[in-house]
Amino acid sequence: MPERILSSELQSEEASIEQNLRPRNLSEYIGQRRVIENLQVALEAAQGRGEPLDHVLLYGPPGLGKTTLAHVIAAEMGVNVKITSGPVIERPGDLAAILTNLRQGDILFVDEVHRLSRTVEEILYPAMEDFCLDLMIGKGPAARSIRLNLPHFTLIGATTRIALLTSPLRERFGVMYRLDFYDVEAMQAIVQRSASILGVPIDEEGTYEIASRARGTPRVANRLLKRVRDYAEVRGEGVIDQETARAALEMLEVDELGLDVSDRRVLQTMIDKFDGGPVGLETMAAALSEDADTIMDVYEPYLIQLGFVERTPRGRMATRRAYEHLGVPYSESDQPPSKQESLF
Ligand code: ADP
Repeated sequence: MPERILSSELQSEEASIEQNLRPRNLSEYIGQRRVIENLQVALEAAQGRGEPLDHVLLYGPPGLGKTTLAHVIAAEMGVNVKITSGPVIERPGDLAAILTNLRQGDILFVDEVHRLSRTVEEILYPAMEDFCLDLMIGKGPAARSIRLNLPHFTLIGATTRIALLTSPLRERFGVMYRLDFYDVEAMQAIVQRSASILGVPIDEEGTYEIASRARGTPRVANRLLKRVRDYAEVRGEGVIDQETARAALEMLEVDELGLDVSDRRVLQTMIDKFDGGPVGLETMAAALSEDADTIMDVYEPYLIQLGFVERTPRGRMATRRAYEHLGVPYSESDQPPSKQESLF
């Protein structure tokens, strides 16, 4: 399947460009003011005490800046950061190797922390709580356990699915920050900043067009900016103004709300095949030939944020707004009773 222009997940060949565009310290980090204010207090307090920061859990949809924030925290604390992810740490030994190589104060960033295996998690509990590692040496009757002391480190866990985190793991994080979709103002600042780093001439209207269609997600904004730049260079004068941005985004089939063909297909399927729902996630996944996780992590959060989809105990439902956006007539009588009852 071709990579989706609006996917908020990291795509191939994007990593090196992301490196350049990534804010390096708190003053460069745009938006998420509530999180940043709390974080500033925590950082200052830890620095004042001369201690490492408490373990931090960052959660929210992909592409909103969790990895970036981990780098920023490391830079602010003046420590090293080691980056890994849940599925990569397969065995307890893998985690032990990582932990024993950390230095005092270092940050260990574990992306997709909800995907750690149970056996690995069990090693992590004493490491997070008491900074020690219980290892089994040898096998059978000769096996014995040894305890190693670890340097005081900070674990920064990131997840798109807080509900999948086991409660013992969740409880071991000192602080939890939820990253939200960015508002248009913050998105404009992000587009402007990225354009200046990439050396792309862009005016205010051009910035607005990209910012308002990037689903409140910096990774998507950066990707759209690059595609619109290509268009401006090939079909225009190399400058991104409103006209070029609109034409380029139309060619990419990204509508004025930032929905693309795949999003519209999700809504259309809900409406055409399931009368607007409620429809279960697995049924939707089968009807769309998509992975249920992709629907839940990538499509749904933004559709819910727009108020186009509702999650109910009996499944997903398309709202009146979704019908209106697609230009499909909406009739109250088509809606299941529970929906109508809730209106009274
Ligand atoms: P996540 O880890 O949540 O998937 P990343 O931290 O990798 O997201 O962010 C994706 C890209 O978006 C980064 O490379 C960066 O360029 C950009 N970005 C994220 N957050 C911000 C921000 N607050 N300000 C400016 N750019 C940002």
